[in-house]
Amino acid sequence: MIRDLRYLFRSLSLLDLMRGLLVTGRRLTSRKLTLRYPNETTPKSPRFRGLHALRRYPDGEERCIACKLCEAVCPALAITIESEERSDGTRRTTRYDIDLFKCVYCGFCEEACPVDAVVETDIHEFHFERAGDQIMTKEDLLRIGDRYEKRIAEHRAPDVADP
Ligand code: SF4
Ligand code: SF4
Repeated sequence: MIRDLRYLFRSLSLLDLMRGLLVTGRRLTSRKLTLRYPNETTPKSPRFRGLHALRRYPDGEERCIACKLCEAVCPALAITIESEERSDGTRRTTRYDIDLFKCVYCGFCEEACPVDAVVETDIHEFHFERAGDQIMTKEDLLRIGDRYEKRIAEHRAPDVADP
């Protein structure tokens, strides 16, 4: 009974509403914590690992030599590589897929790569609209690499120099 009366009093006196408004009032003049994304963004760590890319050398040649170290080291088994030997005796991939639904963005693939071919960019704004879109093919990855090469090169460690 007393409990019901107390509840009735609280409801009629709008006590909870007043408390809520008090919190809002206190926040009105304090520093804003929200941003107008995507026009405003928070700083990103230089070590952020986002969308993958495959890079080329300045002459347009693919860096990847199909050694498959990235495929072997990937803990999520997200990378699938097939390769063949070219007429000049070098080896190149004929297939290089990354399943971004399996990927855990650990960065092991780029750490394992001896020629700095596969990299994780700082791009985090990407989405998929159809089933299967999450499989990034070699062409997709090279396209990302070509498009963002300048940005990728700027973010690479200074000890990774081009030959
Ligand atoms: S970031 Fe990690 S999980 Fe993703 S493809 Fe590379 S090695 Fe595999
Ligand atoms: S991306 Fe690098 S580690 Fe992976 S197969 Fe190509 S050269 Fe080897």
